[in-house]
Amino acid sequence: MARDKTLIVGNWKMNLNMHEASLYVHQLSKVVKTHRDVEVVLAPTALTLQSLSLQVNFRQFKLAAQNFYWRDSGAYTGEISATQLRGIVQYALVGHSERRHVFHESDKDIRAKVQAAIRNHLIPILCVGETAFERSEDETQAVLHDQLIGGLANVTSDELEHIVIAYEPVWAIGTGQNALPVDVSHAIRAIRGQIKHLYGQKAADNMQVLYGGSVTADSAADYLALPDVDGLLIGGASLDAHAFSEIVKKAHKGSSLAK
Ligand code: PEP
Repeated sequence: MARDKTLIVGNWKMNLNMHEASLYVHQLSKVVKTHRDVEVVLAPTALTLQSLSLQVNFRQFKLAAQNFYWRDSGAYTGEISATQLRGIVQYALVGHSERRHVFHESDKDIRAKVQAAIRNHLIPILCVGETAFERSEDETQAVLHDQLIGGLANVTSDELEHIVIAYEPVWAIGTGQNALPVDVSHAIRAIRGQIKHLYGQKAADNMQVLYGGSVTADSAADYLALPDVDGLLIGGASLDAHAFSEIVKKAHKGSSLAK
């Protein structure tokens, strides 16, 4: 993805019912200004996607699926396909740590989902990141390497232009334990290094990479100021419309805090 826009993605996880989601979007739309240099993406539960797609002004907010199945249709009871999400969402999270660790999604599943998203013209946000144990064993770079190879196998250079990567250290997600900006820079440089190795320098320079992990309205500016960071994936803090709108404000380059 071109890096001209800062992407702020709110992952609501399994929170907010239809009524709460609608109210939230109504409140958020009043306080979030549309800026050309910021793209705001909401990832609500699947149940609310259809109605929110009718409620949101797509110039103000885009929508993302938190999950989907990689087949386009068929006898897969309980699943939703990327084909069915077309026209409703523009983005889809793939390989979020909760999918990898709670639901045991493998790199093979994740690769198939990346392919399904691309096939259906959705932008996959491929999440990668190490666990606390892997970090303590100094395996961060190896994990990022493996997850990128695993998720991106079969992706062509042209397709890579329509993919976003999110660096999300598992130990920082939902824990209140922030990664140090210097460590985030380091990890994202490793990600770009791997992209360069696989697709060349231009692809690495153009790759849009987000950071996610316990970001709050107070800490957002520290990450957004990093030249390697092109946006944020926000979980907990995105459930508070006020905190989320503060983060969006900080992403706007006109903001005094921006890089
Ligand atoms: C996430 O769900 O991707 C996330 C980063 O969550 P949190 O901000 O709550 O750590």
